[in-house]
Amino acid sequence: MQAAVLHGPRDIRMENRALLTPGAGEAVVQVFASGLCGTDYRIWNGDRAVQYPLIMGHEFIGEVVAVGPDVHTLKPGQKVAVEPNYSCGVCPLCREGNRNLCLSRIAIGIDVNGGFAEQACLPARCCWPAPAEISDDQLMLAEPLAVVVRAVARGEARRGESAAVLGVGALGLLAIQVLKAKGLRVLAVGRTEQRQHLARALGADDFTTSGEGGATEAARAFSGREGVDLVIETAGTGVAVEQGLELPHPGGRVVLTGLPHETSTVNFFGVVRRELRIIGSMIYQQEFPEAIRLLSTGAVTVDRLVTHRFPLARIGEAFAAHRSPEAIKVTVAT
Ligand SMILES: [Zn+2]
Ligand SMILES: [Zn+2]
Repeated sequence: MQAAVLHGPRDIRMENRALLTPGAGEAVVQVFASGLCGTDYRIWNGDRAVQYPLIMGHEFIGEVVAVGPDVHTLKPGQKVAVEPNYSCGVCPLCREGNRNLCLSRIAIGIDVNGGFAEQACLPARCCWPAPAEISDDQLMLAEPLAVVVRAVARGEARRGESAAVLGVGALGLLAIQVLKAKGLRVLAVGRTEQRQHLARALGADDFTTSGEGGATEAARAFSGREGVDLVIETAGTGVAVEQGLELPHPGGRVVLTGLPHETSTVNFFGVVRRELRIIGSMIYQQEFPEAIRLLSTGAVTVDRLVTHRFPLARIGEAFAAHRSPEAIKVTVAT
């Protein structure tokens, strides 16, 4: 099978590898397509350490072609979305239900080989069978959507509340839709005006840019009071986190789900004085079924989120495209 193998920073090569055979508890998936995200870019660029050689790719879908002898929950021929994280199942965190926080958690495409190949072998429990009516593009967004579903749930979003979404990349544009499906009013906050029309088309009630304190005033005007009830931060920069803390009213909630890699200076005086609740949200625990349900019912649409498509053999171009201002979700197909 053909695989894109990362041998070092920015050193990715197409190679021929042996076809895969599932062991106990495993399934082999014929990969249809994989999405690319900021995590992939950081690994490809050498900003995040991994063991080389590595077949990256953690947002992928495909068809089950073989299962281990003890696997009875999946059948060859089933189309599946892959949940690319699995935990040890036995540590205190796992037993408490916090499997997303397990210190021994394995990420497919990061810690072990993933979906930038014609085939991937993974635990069968990572495969979520797809409803018949769901398209490949919809299914591929299940992974980032699961991240967003958890963030919104962690924020205890309630019908009738006002929310601000920071960042209008793939996660932000999904968050707008999830919040709207839950009956909130949503203010989208982008760095520039570029995505204003798209954010509104996907349901945002209003849009503002984040420069020069504009978002704080906009959040007050939008909520008709001291700020919004809930902020979902998806941009994953230190600056965005600081801005996010300015948008809720006293007593409001801020969910951080973007991953800020740089340190920032947070005004904790304001956090105490305004009794803000800052809530971290890390990937997902049980959110894949809800993500797939939102996609299959059309509550969340993805048509305008997949902006670039490349064949696997041109994966280098896919990484370049990920950095272009027009890119929302870049995919590679095998
Ligand atoms: Zn990702
Ligand atoms: Zn564990």
